[in-house]
Amino acid sequence: MRLLEERIRRDGRVKEGDVLKVDGFLNHQMDVELFAEMAREFKRLFEGCGVNRILTIEASGIGLACIAAQEFKCPVIFAKKTRTKNIAGDVYTAKVMSYTSGTLYDIIVSKEYLCSSDRVLIIDDFLANGAALDGLIRIAEQAGAEVVGAGVAIEKAFQPGGDRIRARGIRVEALARIKSMSEAGGIEFC
Ligand code: 5GP
Repeated sequence: MRLLEERIRRDGRVKEGDVLKVDGFLNHQMDVELFAEMAREFKRLFEGCGVNRILTIEASGIGLACIAAQEFKCPVIFAKKTRTKNIAGDVYTAKVMSYTSGTLYDIIVSKEYLCSSDRVLIIDDFLANGAALDGLIRIAEQAGAEVVGAGVAIEKAFQPGGDRIRARGIRVEALARIKSMSEAGGIEFC
């Protein structure tokens, strides 16, 4: 998506550890008009897939997921991150290693909000090694729900997550795919 690529080129900053900082429009301050364009693109891509639930993970996926949900006219469920060892109650759970903090989280979703008749679109801000998407897919699988696909704003295509998840037969759509990036050399898109 040209608009997103231009914005990444203009405002994105490449940091140590293959981290792209996009705090000015995606991860801290949020440009909701840009989100609306991204949401329309997700809607175009997943039109006709019968999406009735959007699933994301806290925190930075939530804003984009909410705007996307307005397009799909369905609820958003966000997986909560918890460090609690004994997870109580009727929840689906998965373990997720956070890319940015290196912390291992249990993520949870209440069984009340996801069931076997659901058709789920997963939305997140970034795709790197795929741990966040893996965890969300495991949650949907536990519910017996159908994952119609995953939509991410930015895929760092030089990292393995996207190829690995696509190889499992899951449709992954990224609005901007970064081929390479470095502090000195800038950002190259696929
Ligand atoms: P993965 O689980 O695919 O390794 O990483 C995806 C998650 O880590 C996203 O939910 C996102 O919050 C975070 N993340 C991964 N790479 C980056 C990055 O380059 N910049 C930012 N801001 N977040 C990232």
